[in-house]
Amino acid sequence: MFNLPNLPYLHDVLEPYIDEETMHVHHDGHHAAYVKNLNDALAGHDEFLNMEVEELLKNLDRVPEEIRTKVKNNAGGHYHHSIWWPMLAPADENGAREATGELLQQIEKDYGGFAAFREKFDQAASTLFGSGWVWLVWDRDHLAIASTANQDSPLSQGFYPVLGLDVWEHAYYLKYKNKRADWIFAFWNVVNWQEVARRLNRAKEGGLNGTDSH
Ligand code: MN
Repeated sequence: MFNLPNLPYLHDVLEPYIDEETMHVHHDGHHAAYVKNLNDALAGHDEFLNMEVEELLKNLDRVPEEIRTKVKNNAGGHYHHSIWWPMLAPADENGAREATGELLQQIEKDYGGFAAFREKFDQAASTLFGSGWVWLVWDRDHLAIASTANQDSPLSQGFYPVLGLDVWEHAYYLKYKNKRADWIFAFWNVVNWQEVARRLNRAKEGGLNGTDSH
């Protein structure tokens, strides 16, 4: 049985970059629906209902074929939003607008600098066609930028997500309408770099970068 996690902050704290109404629709509406639909799809399949959602996404090939697509979509939706809310923080807290420390060093190693990294990430986010996510992932021994369609998960492809950006229209349309570039620009104001650094450490130390899946 999967459960909707509470937001780690109030719905209005990411204003003006992410508006309160969008946070209600996105968390209380869309995320809640992914959780409900995942539990519905797996009703009677206790083996999968008792898994961590990460394990489920790494083992989609074990899920019965007739429910696999529904499980993939809703497990992905549940997991991605669950890790995404903590990746965001109010603009006035956590000071730095850029990565620092070991995370910054890794970005510099793999991209030549933060600005170059951000340019590539922005490019991926602005050119992703339709609904999906753009990710900074840990790929065994380096960072990589990856795009996934719909709620397909980098975890299922063997990559550990360190930072993500939701470019589904439900993430931004109420406030930014069709101006995805404005949404991407706003996002950088509310990234919780401490959480991103924590996730990178977890990927490096925990063996959770997905090399055990395929
Ligand atoms: Mn979303």
